[in-house]
Amino acid sequence: MIPTIFAPATAPGRGGVAIVRVSGPRAGDALTILTGRSLPAPRTAAVARLADPRSGEFLDHGLVLWFPGPRSFTGEDVAEFHVHGGRAVVAGLIDALSALQGFRIAEPGEFSRRGFENGKFDLTAAEAIADLVDAETSAQRRQALRQMEGELGRLYEDWRHRLTHALAHLEADIDFPDEDLPEGVSDQVRPVLESLIAGLRAHLDDKRRGERLRDGIHIAILGAPNAGKSSLLNALARREAAIVSERAGTTRDVVEVHLDLGGYPVVLADTAGLREAADEIESEGIRRALARAAQADLKLAVFDATSLPDLDAQTLAVVDEDTLVVLNKCDRVAPPEMTVGGRVALAVSAATGNGLAELIERLTAEVARRFEAPGVPALTRARHRSALEECVGSLERALSALLPELAAEDVRIAIRALGRITGRVDVEDLLDVIFRDFCIGK
Ligand code: GDP
Repeated sequence: MIPTIFAPATAPGRGGVAIVRVSGPRAGDALTILTGRSLPAPRTAAVARLADPRSGEFLDHGLVLWFPGPRSFTGEDVAEFHVHGGRAVVAGLIDALSALQGFRIAEPGEFSRRGFENGKFDLTAAEAIADLVDAETSAQRRQALRQMEGELGRLYEDWRHRLTHALAHLEADIDFPDEDLPEGVSDQVRPVLESLIAGLRAHLDDKRRGERLRDGIHIAILGAPNAGKSSLLNALARREAAIVSERAGTTRDVVEVHLDLGGYPVVLADTAGLREAADEIESEGIRRALARAAQADLKLAVFDATSLPDLDAQTLAVVDEDTLVVLNKCDRVAPPEMTVGGRVALAVSAATGNGLAELIERLTAEVARRFEAPGVPALTRARHRSALEECVGSLERALSALLPELAAEDVRIAIRALGRITGRVDVEDLLDVIFRDFCIGK
């Protein structure tokens, strides 16, 4: 028999309420045994006195809920115990459940895995549940919710259906060949595959917007030594995260702070000052700074306003369309109005905080412009990306195939690649990896 699994669904530690969830064929027994009463009405909270069946020891007064399968999160019979959120209460409940025949503690993600295996949702929705639990900012929450509601799954399923349809045409060409059409892919199927390739390419060519939103959007602070990069990072983070020093060249490695910028998760990195390096360690720091700049989604180029009209040439060299130009130390000079590298410079003072609100506003707007979710849902995972790339590759091979049989085989591979994203085809080998990263109790 399938084991009945249980786990705390709430975070460990003290809390007002803790929830212990049970799923499997004996979930109903857990309720009747611990409450000493018959099953409550489905999906309705009932107050119950809970006791350890071995000793009869009173564990807590709590709420119990009964979700008979298949109308439950896992699709199996599910019971929930809502108890007082103290460690000893939860431990007593877990201990009592462990002693029941056919019960065991759930592995991370096992509830979601059972839900997926019972067809309650596809793999993209299961992954979105994990993302929602991990979401720390409102943009991450919105992206996870859209995916959980099935937007991404529907997009991939729609593509898969269109390909299945195209495959049926290809197979008809194989079964009933038309002597006038010697090519691999008929004129009827070719535009379908071409439009799918275009759709897939547009979806793939998204600057990793969805993946960035999950992992954090990278902003690199660049500038000459002493321009005030560390001070600016600290001012923006409103805490002391980097060493601020009078001596030039102290930030030799990359210092990061994680910020919630208007709902977007941002990783702000302070880098080594750009200048001719005095030693090997510093030149390594500068190399890393430039590597950071190259990978960053946005850059803040910081210039020292007290050395105007001279502008540091090395910093000037990194200014491009993904750069916000900042003139720092404007508490010491009258804030100049100027453009640098074609970009309007923002006058700030990391020391007094002047201009920072405007800088944050500009940064947030730039981030939102790049990462706000338009109509099409974003690609959110490397796993999806590699399957989609495989799909495009197979479709391109199909288009250039000389025989319809070969084209059909490539389209079948493309269909399988899409099916692996949503879990429509056999994905047993993937499941351990996907669900391993979930929390216990999810
Ligand atoms: P970094 O090398 O670019 O990271 O520069 P730091 O943040 O270490 O700052 C270099 C020096 O400039 C320090 O003495 C700071 O106190 C000073 N400094 C930084 N920002 C400002 C500012 O806005 N106004 C003034 N007056 N001094 C600043």
